[in-house]
Amino acid sequence: MELNKILDEYDMILLGIGEGFEEEFPEEMKQGKEYSLEKDIQRKNYLEEHKNTKADLAYQKLAEGLKNKNYFVVTLCQDDKIYHSGLKKERIVAPCGSYSFLQCTNVCSSDIYNFEEMKESIEKGESPVCPHCKEPLVMNRIGVPKYSEEGYLPQWNLYTKWIQGTLNKKLLLLELGVGMKYPSVIRWPFEKMCYINEKARLVRVNDYLHHMTEELKEKGDSVQENPVEFVLNQFV
Ligand SMILES: [Zn+2]
Repeated sequence: MELNKILDEYDMILLGIGEGFEEEFPEEMKQGKEYSLEKDIQRKNYLEEHKNTKADLAYQKLAEGLKNKNYFVVTLCQDDKIYHSGLKKERIVAPCGSYSFLQCTNVCSSDIYNFEEMKESIEKGESPVCPHCKEPLVMNRIGVPKYSEEGYLPQWNLYTKWIQGTLNKKLLLLELGVGMKYPSVIRWPFEKMCYINEKARLVRVNDYLHHMTEELKEKGDSVQENPVEFVLNQFV
């Protein structure tokens, strides 16, 4: 498969990025039964120290390959790496949240708070609290006990508008490393979009879960490969 050539044949590119791109954290940073903001902060620091990974490089290659294209990216990753890649921020939606924003434990409001603005006081040992209800703040990501989804909704609205514009267009759906953890976010909607749009094609790249549904046999390419390696091999 030559992805560069395929990209040229399509007017619109929808990129779905899954767990296959997510940074793996050391065991000691795993969340236990009780959520700990401290562990999430360790993870955030870890991300800042591990910036030139293969996934980072693959993101840069994708940004380069898509730079003159009309694209949108939906990602399941929470590690924020995608925002350092050259891919346009206004064309990315991350429904699982990130390590860049904090939210109220109880979601007493939909407000989210930029981590950078609180960094100084956190480093001094102060625990950040919600300005409304004084409960502790937690990361605004899906791993917390009560995830506030409001944070990504503005981007999600842009995304759904963009999708409406793909009807009858030549649409390439490129699914990279998306497993079955949250299939309703990328996997199933991508299959549906490919099915209803006559000019669409789905390229699914995954280590193990690369299989294509029966209905899409003629319109889909199933590639069994590590998604990061796939990108690195495609854009040399
Ligand atoms: Zn609150």
